[in-house]
Amino acid sequence: MYPYSHEPFTNFTEEKNIKAFKEALAFVDSELGKHYPVIIDGESITTEEIIQSINPANKEEVVGSVSMANQELAEQAMQAALAAFEDWKRWSPEHRANILLRAAAMLRRRKHEFSSYLVKEAGKPWKEADADTAEAIDFIEYYARQMLSMKEGVPVKSRAGEYNQFNYIPLGVGIIISPFNFPLAIMAGTTVAAIVTGNTVLLKPANSTPIVAAKFVELMHEAGLPKGVLNFVPGSGAQIGDYLVDHPKTRFVSFTGSREVGCRIYERAAKVNPGQIWLKRVIAEMGGKDTVVVDNEADLDLAAASIVYSAFGYSGQKCSAGSRAVVHQDVYEVVLEKAVELTKTLSLGNPELQDTYMGPVIDEKSFSKIMSYIEIGKEEGRLMTGGEGDGSKGYFIQPTIFADLDEDARLMKEEIFGPVVTFCKARDFDHMMKIANNTDYGLTGALISNNRQHIEKARQEFHVGNLYFNRTCTGAIVGYQPFGGFNMSGTDSKAGGPDYLLLHMQAKTTSEML
Ligand code: NAP
Repeated sequence: MYPYSHEPFTNFTEEKNIKAFKEALAFVDSELGKHYPVIIDGESITTEEIIQSINPANKEEVVGSVSMANQELAEQAMQAALAAFEDWKRWSPEHRANILLRAAAMLRRRKHEFSSYLVKEAGKPWKEADADTAEAIDFIEYYARQMLSMKEGVPVKSRAGEYNQFNYIPLGVGIIISPFNFPLAIMAGTTVAAIVTGNTVLLKPANSTPIVAAKFVELMHEAGLPKGVLNFVPGSGAQIGDYLVDHPKTRFVSFTGSREVGCRIYERAAKVNPGQIWLKRVIAEMGGKDTVVVDNEADLDLAAASIVYSAFGYSGQKCSAGSRAVVHQDVYEVVLEKAVELTKTLSLGNPELQDTYMGPVIDEKSFSKIMSYIEIGKEEGRLMTGGEGDGSKGYFIQPTIFADLDEDARLMKEEIFGPVVTFCKARDFDHMMKIANNTDYGLTGALISNNRQHIEKARQEFHVGNLYFNRTCTGAIVGYQPFGGFNMSGTDSKAGGPDYLLLHMQAKTTSEML
């Protein structure tokens, strides 16, 4: 692996950084309302049907609009990607990686601008937006360097008179389908991983966050990406999503989003359609029901902080969000009280203001879904703090804690994807592990404990793709904590990890008699 270290987060206690971020927000304000076309084979195509991107903190503010691809344009994009693949697959890995390295450098220079789009379009507070952009830079840098280290393939044995080689070659055209919650990092990471490995792609961003994706596509072309390699096809998931997943020329689908859509894609992609001469690969990273477990031997302030920050960062809209706290009965009341007190200090409001800890949820649909779970919570548990929503100006929901949930309650099992955390009391360590594993998912988890034996036991028994000790269960860093989950959390692709690029390639063995 070529040297890599992750992008540092911006220090917002420094005046110069505060000033620079405010200037970037003002710049993005001056760009609001712009229209972004579909991009096929490097050409801009403006359509009549558009998607309007609305600021979730202020429903009256239109961040911008994008043209919508219908099936006809999706087909055109597929043909462009197929044609471009014939050239792009022959580019050397170094030359492909060089474009990514340049893109990462450009993104780093425009970091606050991109973060400001995330504030406006995704409702991310400054620190969350900054972390999203930093992660995007990390993905681009990491995958570029990873590709360089894989370019020679892997050595295999050769015998006298025979020369054997084992190399990786690209797959073909990939469909990249990204979620709203990391509209820059996940969108960019999944896109560049497919591209640097020699594939060409059609990118369909989430409907609620298409502008930041459009800006990223512009940047990739400015960085020197040849036309046709990255085609930008915003559109309805149901309409063009199904069409592209079913397409016989689609070679692979890289999806991040909900369990419901992920399972649908997985099933449809399994069908071999007329004209199709391969089995499609599917990378599907889906939902979570992540748990912070607190032992009786633990730092209880750390426990409360880990629960609260895992639950409410970006309003709980992270697949890794800690939406359940499973606490040993001996310390349950103390941890609950500390978590409630800490939660009351969190500021909810306009994410454009530096001091805001939590902004809105993404849209009306999410707002209604989360509020209906809060109503269920009032039946299933004891409301300790929060519980109110205000959808008048934007989609604001208070950070909410429910206590005394039964381990089989709905709020303990279903992904809410909002600022709601449920507390459940456990008898002993084995009971804590049982509850923690008692979901269909297996994405992230944390154990707060000073008991060495329990830490080692959890290492084996806590069945999640990303397990953390004595910290939050959110905040994986590219190259440091490769990310992906078990069971219904997806195919465990481990984004930002050493195996990730392999999912976008196929290995070829050549053997020559000398
Ligand atoms: P979503 O509703 O499943 O949407 C994800 C993407 O799928 C969007 O681009 C969506 O387009 C598209 N889509 C919808 N229907 C489709 C279809 N029939 N065919 C193809 N594509 C279709 O998820 P979300 O609300 O954006 O994101 C939140 C979810 O993502 C949560 O469940 C979260 O846990 C999960 N997530 C997982 C990870 C991970 O690494 N495991 C990371 C981030 C998020 P439209 O926007 O047009 O509907």
